[in-house]
Amino acid sequence: MNMHTNTDFTLSIEDLTVSFDGFKAVDNLNFYLDKNELHVIIGPNGAGKTTVLDLICGKTKATSGSIKFLNSELTGLSEHAIVRAGVGRKFQTPSIYENLTVLENLEVSYPHGRGVLGSLLFKRNKKVLDKIHEIAKEIMLEQALDTEAGLLSHGQKQWLEIGMLLIQDPQLLMLDEPVAGMSVKEREQTAKLLNKISQGRSVLVIEHDMEFVARIAHKVTVLHQGKILATGDMEKVQNDPKVIEVYLGH
Ligand code: ADP
Ligand code: MG
Repeated sequence: MNMHTNTDFTLSIEDLTVSFDGFKAVDNLNFYLDKNELHVIIGPNGAGKTTVLDLICGKTKATSGSIKFLNSELTGLSEHAIVRAGVGRKFQTPSIYENLTVLENLEVSYPHGRGVLGSLLFKRNKKVLDKIHEIAKEIMLEQALDTEAGLLSHGQKQWLEIGMLLIQDPQLLMLDEPVAGMSVKEREQTAKLLNKISQGRSVLVIEHDMEFVARIAHKVTVLHQGKILATGDMEKVQNDPKVIEVYLGH
């Protein structure tokens, strides 16, 4: 059996496999995430990185293995139940409401919101507004609360989507390539944002930009052909000959 019998992990993935018509996109994966840990998964295209997030959030069903979040099993739960359990996931393309303001986008994401219409009819109370302001400040959009989301820059849209997840206060936040398409300045600001966000929760990020990874990662895991090639701190992983050969050397 596995030596990780510690029950304090936010996430414990054991022997996780998903097979698409016989092709194992994720192959017997064992992966652990601590509280307050910001862990980055890197690896070549097709390594299975996005599939790992799909498995955790319930979008893809595992062929075998276990995914425990705060000691309860996620495999078999619906995507909605997994969100309610405290897992937030940001996809590569932001899914914000372009015609609503920043404030309204955050408001509809507030946990008591009942869909777009229900939330807009729901009377704004001070508790909700305070939370919206707190999150808007964190995602650097406090000055843009009344701006229509469609008018934001690409980077600001990404931050807004992060805010829409944060307002639900997830214990695990997962982000797939959050700085793709961002300017240098926006990348720096996003690194600061993620460092702050990881205080008090676990964060799992997929990213290609190694400079960005170096700024944020507490731990790095390199995935290759659905399996872990290396795991550890940035320096260890960067100097691993297997990693240089299949990924960093290119
Ligand atoms: P990465 O995010 O590391 O680039 P992915 O997780 O998106 O890689 O994909 C890993 C492999 O699994 C790829 O070969 C991809 O084509 C395949 N794959 C992913 N999702 C599916 C699916 N739903 N059905 C069939 N094959 C899939
Ligand atoms: Mg991917």
